[in-house]
Amino acid sequence: MKIGVLGAGMAGLAAAALLARQGYAVTVLEKAFYPGGSAGFYMRKGKRFPAGATILFGLEPGGLLDELFRPLELGLRPRPLAHPMDVVLSDRTVRVLAGRDEWEQELRRAFPERGEAVLRFWRRLATIAESVHELTRAEPALPLRRAYQLGRLPVLLLRRPELAARLGRYSLWTVGQLLRRCGLEDYRPLREFLDLQLMDAAQVGAEQAALLPASLALDIYRRGSFALPGGTGELAEALEARLLADGGELRRREEALRLEPADGGGWVAVTRRGEHRFDAVVNATGRLELGLGQPDAAAASPPSEEADGSFGAEPLPETGLPGLPADVGGWGAVRLDLRLGAEAFAGTGAEPPPELAHGLPFAWQIKPSPANAALIGDLEGPVYATLHPEEDGERLLTVSAHAPAAGWTGLQRSEYAARKRELSRALREEAARVVPALRGMGEPAGEAGTPATYERFIGKARVGGTPMTVREAILRPRGLFSGQPRLYLAGESVYPGPGTLSSALSGGYAARAVMREQPLR
Ligand SMILES: Cc1cc2nc3c(=O)[nH]c(=O)nc-3n(C[C@H](O)[C@H](O)[C@H](O)COP(=O)(O)OP(=O)(O)OC[C@H]3O[C@@H](n4cnc5c(N)ncnc54)[C@H](O)[C@@H]3O)c2cc1C
Repeated sequence: MKIGVLGAGMAGLAAAALLARQGYAVTVLEKAFYPGGSAGFYMRKGKRFPAGATILFGLEPGGLLDELFRPLELGLRPRPLAHPMDVVLSDRTVRVLAGRDEWEQELRRAFPERGEAVLRFWRRLATIAESVHELTRAEPALPLRRAYQLGRLPVLLLRRPELAARLGRYSLWTVGQLLRRCGLEDYRPLREFLDLQLMDAAQVGAEQAALLPASLALDIYRRGSFALPGGTGELAEALEARLLADGGELRRREEALRLEPADGGGWVAVTRRGEHRFDAVVNATGRLELGLGQPDAAAASPPSEEADGSFGAEPLPETGLPGLPADVGGWGAVRLDLRLGAEAFAGTGAEPPPELAHGLPFAWQIKPSPANAALIGDLEGPVYATLHPEEDGERLLTVSAHAPAAGWTGLQRSEYAARKRELSRALREEAARVVPALRGMGEPAGEAGTPATYERFIGKARVGGTPMTVREAILRPRGLFSGQPRLYLAGESVYPGPGTLSSALSGGYAARAVMREQPLR
């Protein structure tokens, strides 16, 4: 049984490695040279830069990814982050802490005006998150189309009927509704904090984020967040190594141009180098238009006027990038990668975060000034700065933000360069609030990226994933069925949730669908 997996991001690699482990003959076609997609890396002058993700979730013993990857025996050495980030609001800083007691103390300290109410809000949120985590561990895949997609859900609900009641009760709630229920709707500092965290994890702010998945995204740091010694790319490399050891194949720089139905069933993937015939295909590229892979007729139709008003529900403007179907919502990203001397903090009066001394990365989510937010094009989301541990006497600082995906192509070269310079200046200015050495540093060597950069390297400008609105996450999730036989979908474009964790889980669901529907003889 020959299975084709398109795209070697977290979703494609997870699906491919799990299928190869079961004995399927798996070929992965990947557009880029390095595996990992937005959770991979790129090289410049012999140095490695993360392409996107730095913090991983679900790797705690018994965690969602730990369980998913268990059969693969990847031998990862994830390092838990006790204090992964600071969230820098307009008038205060909130430390995100892993320990439950420490976090509750921090909530009291950071939100003194409404400390007790904020604590009650968070405890309620954490209880909901716990239920969602249990539900996810049972591995149901939405939307439910086949009995096997229920996973172990029926057993779980028989054993824990109160879970069904709780999940049912909150299924159509947003985080904004819970704020109102707790009398906190007008408390600006908490809302600002939630908006920054959620824009990162859910692609929408508190008013639009579906409470069930958002509760898990917000409280997930208490379960554990992790860094790998060699960066997130190490996970991609471990999955690739497992795939190859189990007889699979990863064809780098081989972009799937289209899929055509094969005689006698299955698909032919056409690339510039030739054709590959597969019995079934998992499309994990995020390019749903490849080979008729529209999720279904309803999802493919333009969103209606009365849709929930989130950006994900709006069709791309006419000037959108070519080849992207209008129904795939989500943001693009802009970024700036800087290499700083290890003494970057010396003489600034600012202390480097202690995590760095322990060889761990440290991140800041920063509420940008209105002027810079307008320039970047996102008025709600954070500028996200991550300082990486020292390597060869240097520290890498990556600075990124959401930005509208459209409008970066079709520009004159000079126009594009000027916009990129402006953007780099805005990102640098925001990062200088937490790494003050940037102010007096002249122009440190750096690389700036825009949605057009992502489009060029990983084939899609919108890298944020599916917005986690009630509509996208609960009522009309895209899910893994393409509407075509033997063609499954996986990845952040069809499965809402926080980043690498959700993408890998969706790869796992696609692998399960292949195993159930195309069993090995
Ligand atoms: C700046 C940034 C920071 C982030 N930080 C975090 C973080 O700290 N923690 C976290 O959990 N998540 C983070 N994320 C999100 C996370 O990286 C992504 O959600 C996740 O990695 C997406 O995985 P995927 O497999 O769904 O898609 P992708 O990573 O986009 O993978 C798709 C793959 O398909 C390939 N491809 C595309 N078209 C074709 C084609 N036609 N043929 C063959 N191959 C093709 C691409 O090259 C790519 O390798 C971040 C994202 C960004 C952009």
